[in-house]
Formats: sequence, C-alpha cells, structure tokens
Amino acid sequence: MNVNDSVFFLYKNNFVYLITNVIIITLTSFLIFLNEITSVYGIILSLIIITQLYLAARIKSVYDGAVKSLQDTEQKLNESEKEKHFMAYYDEITKLPNERYLLEKIKENLADDTSRKAVLVIKIDRLTTIKTSLGSYYTNHIVQMIADRLHMFFPTYLFGRLREDQFLILIENHNDEAAIQKLCKQIIEMMEKPFCIQHFSLNITVNIGIAYYPEDAQTEENIIKYAQFALYEASKSPEQFTFYKPSMLSVREEQLLLENDLYKAINNNELFLQYQPQLKLKSKHSIAMEALVRWKHPEKGLIPPSEFIPIAEESGLIVPIGKWVLETACRQTKELQEVIQQPVTVAVNLSLRQLFHENFVQVVKMILHDTKLPPECLQLEITESMTMNTNFLTPILYELKEIGVTIALDDFGKGYSSLSFLKDLPIDCLKIDREFVKNMNEENHKPLVDLIISMAKHFKLNVVAEGVETMEQFNYLVNSECDAVQGYLISKPNSFDKIVENCKSIQKEFCCSTQSAYYGYIKQIFSN
Ligand code: C2E
Ligand code: MG
Ligand code: MG
Repeated sequence: MNVNDSVFFLYKNNFVYLITNVIIITLTSFLIFLNEITSVYGIILSLIIITQLYLAARIKSVYDGAVKSLQDTEQKLNESEKEKHFMAYYDEITKLPNERYLLEKIKENLADDTSRKAVLVIKIDRLTTIKTSLGSYYTNHIVQMIADRLHMFFPTYLFGRLREDQFLILIENHNDEAAIQKLCKQIIEMMEKPFCIQHFSLNITVNIGIAYYPEDAQTEENIIKYAQFALYEASKSPEQFTFYKPSMLSVREEQLLLENDLYKAINNNELFLQYQPQLKLKSKHSIAMEALVRWKHPEKGLIPPSEFIPIAEESGLIVPIGKWVLETACRQTKELQEVIQQPVTVAVNLSLRQLFHENFVQVVKMILHDTKLPPECLQLEITESMTMNTNFLTPILYELKEIGVTIALDDFGKGYSSLSFLKDLPIDCLKIDREFVKNMNEENHKPLVDLIISMAKHFKLNVVAEGVETMEQFNYLVNSECDAVQGYLISKPNSFDKIVENCKSIQKEFCCSTQSAYYGYIKQIFSN
C-alpha cells in the first residue's frame, strides 16, 4: 500500500464513522419528533450524540494529522529520491549532467539515431595548478563561471561536465569538419576574455578534442575516449583543437609507458643536468647559470623536459626528481667553484607541487648544508602560475629568503595574473619570457619589453631576458636597463663535464678587464 492508498483508507474510515453518527442523530431526532422516547432517554441520547460528535471531531483531527504526516513523508521520500537521482546524474558544482548521465544519453542517442554526430571534449588548461594555488573554493567558482559561459553558448545541445577539468558537448547537426572548426574557434575565442576572481584577472585557455560517430568509434565509451586522446594532441597544437586520428591511440599508450619508465629514471641514473649561462650586462665578474634537467631514456634517447616534467608533475614524481635536481645542481656548482676558484651562482627551476610539499624549506637547508654551497649562490626559480596563492606562497618564500637564497620569477609575462602583487612577494629577479624577446623585432613589442624592465626596476628587481638568439636582440637589451641575458646567442645548455673541462683549460688565461673580455670568457666556459 502506498501513501495515497493509506490516505484514501483513512478518509474512507473517517467517512464511515461520520455517516454512522449522522444516521444515529437522524434516527434520534425522528424518535423525539414522534414522541417515542421519554425526556430522560432523550437527554441520555443527546449526551451520547454530543459525545459521538466530539469523538468524531477528535478522530477527524487525528486522521487529518496522520494524513498530513503521510503526505509529508511521501514528499520527503520524493525529495530524497530526487536528491539521489541528482547526485547520481548531475555534477554538484556546476549542476550540469555528469559522466554517467552523458554516457547513458549518448548510448540512447546512438541506439535511436545512427546519423553522423560529433563529440567535443573541452579541457580547462592547468586546472590542477590553479587548484593547488587557489584552493578548491575559488577553483570551483572558476569552473562554475566557465560552465556558465559554455552553457550560454550551447543552450540546446547535450552538454555536461565529464571530469573535473573537462566538459562534453554532443553535436548532432551541422557537424561537418568546417562547421566544427568554426565552432571550436568561437569557443576558444569566448574563453579568451579573462575571468575575474579574488583580486585576479585570470586567463583561462581551453583545448578541444573531437571524435565522430560512426567513423571513429561506435560505442559511447570509445567515442568519448577518442575525443580525449585528440584532446591530448590539441594541447600541443597552436589551434588548440584536434580531430581524432587512429595514430593517436599509440601515442597515448606511449605516454603511459613513459610515465612508467620515469619511475625508474632516478635510480637508473638516467637523469642529468645541463647548464646555460646568464651573461651579466652590468658587471664583469660574476658567473651565473641555470640548471636544466635532461632525461636520457635507454631506448628513446634524449627526452626534453617539456615532455617529461608535466608527466612528473601529474604523477607526483616531481618531488623526488626536483630534490635530485636541487641536490645535484648544488653539488656540481660547489665543485665548479672549486675548479674555477671564484663564486658561481646557479638557478634551479621549481615546480608547484615541489614547493608546496611539506618540509621543502628543510630540504633546501639540508642540501645546502651537505653540499657546502653558500646559500647566496643558489637562486630558486618559481613561475607566475605559482604566485596566484600569495597567502600560501609568501611565508614559504620569506623562509627561503631567511636561509639566504634568492628567488627569481621565471617566464614572466606568460599571463596568469596582474602585476600589482609583485610588490608583496619577496622576489629578487624577474625573467622575461622568451616569447617577448622573440617578438622584440616586431616594432610594437619593444616598448612592451621596456615596460616590463622599467616596472621590474620600479620594484627594485634584477631583470634577465630569456631566449636571446640574435645580435639585434642582444644590442637592444645591452642598451636597456636589463641586468642579464640568457639564450642560444651566448650559449646553448651544456653538460657539467664539458664545462669543467673548459674551465680547466682556460683558468690561467682568465682576465676580465673589459666587458667584451668577460663575454668571451663566459662563452669559452660554456662552449661545446
Ligand atoms: P625555463 O626554465 O624557462 O628554461 C629555459 C628554456 O629555454 C630551456 O629549455 C632552454 O634550453 C631554453 N632556451 C634557452 N635559450 C634559448 C634560446 O635562445 N632559444 C630557445 N628557443 N630556447 C632557449 P628546456 O631545457 O627545454 O627547459 C624547458 C622548461 O622545462 C624550462 O623552462 C623549465 O620550465 C622546465 N625545466 C627544466 N629543467 C627543470 C627542472 O629541473 N625542474 C623543473 N621543475 N622544471 C624544469
Ligand atoms: Mg627557468
Ligand atoms: Mg623561463
């Protein structure tokens, strides 16, 4: 019996009771009218009737209460069913359909209609980094804003949140490649408008992977999986969107194998460091260099950091790898100082996960102690994306500064946030991203470099220009307030052994009385 049946049952009983009372009253009144009963009986009967009426009223109110509580229970049951359904099929944060819902709907759709359709998977770039920096609260807020923007664009399509950083859209009509390309461009363009959160104006980029039914895959699971494979390639393409191709299957498998091999890389001594000099423009004496990690894979050969650092970051391997890099860079720099008999500073790149890992400051202290490298000879490079969570970052940077190491902000200008927070962070050096230096030849980019330099000077920071490849760029920077340059023009990164060998051969001829003698000296040390 459900709640409605119970209500009906209660009402029915109550109704029978009332009818019985009405019959008794009518009968009694009729008897009194006919003078068939004496006044004593009449009084007794009247009392019985009044009691009956009172009881009827009481019972009715009890019944009404029971009916109400049954209805409430049913409403609660309905609500909890709805809640359960919502939790099972919708995303809690964006209130959009979730993966299960999308899979079921696409399955139904494919069963009902076999015409061509496209699945687009849209991925928010670097959401994990944003989350580590800003925390869940603000990240959820950003995801909500992104979802709203996308939803407004696709009000009638099947649209949902597939993963934490992925959305899915099913496009049934107008799905030829040209139309989809146009659509992807519109989505990417729409996302270019910054998102305002806290005191940040955050630039979000998205990548889009596309797979078609039926030519790429015939099941809902495969079509989504293949769109995700295409997504991985999209992150490397300048257009930011890619259509699935069968060759992508093997690339993704290779990716997973690479992650597996990286686990063994440290123990198998497959990692090593190269060093690239930073040529000082305002001094003739110091030797500074940046340590860059390399992976010599036993079968695949040299793998660039741009390929394996993201894998290391995603898998958490960056913590032991980063520690190894720091320890090796400090030890080798100390060794170089002894060979060359003068101070050498080394800059080491940090990853967000490494910096926020517990005991990071202790690890730096311990390494400096063990390798005997003076703290002022170590510079730690952080990137702009790490500076989003100033509340968390600032105390760590102050602790590091207390040890005596210096901090550089790498790849500056790639665009994560506003410049105003620079004054709040204890940073010593700003490294202008090589994209700016590369574009310096275009007339309107020169003032941009000047602007960054003058702003850095305003905050009393040193400035290093990265990626200097031409004499034109070099001459421009020499005449600016830039403090140092780094790039292939001066030297490509070189192995430690070669640098030591070079130092040993030129040590005695060392003379840096002029700026050009100093340039020559640095070139010689780091030459191949
Ligand atoms: P980065 O820290 O900005 O390093 C500079 C990158 O620019 C290096 O690439 C370097 O070889 C390259 N480069 C230097 N001069 C020129 C030039 O004139 N032209 C061009 N086109 N490129 C130049 P690399 O070694 O491939 O490193 C790429 C990125 O990988 C680094 O960028 C850094 O973000 C990351 N990375 C490297 N080593 C480490 C590490 O030990 N730990 C972490 N967390 N990241 C690392
Ligand atoms: Mg760097
Ligand atoms: Mg850089």
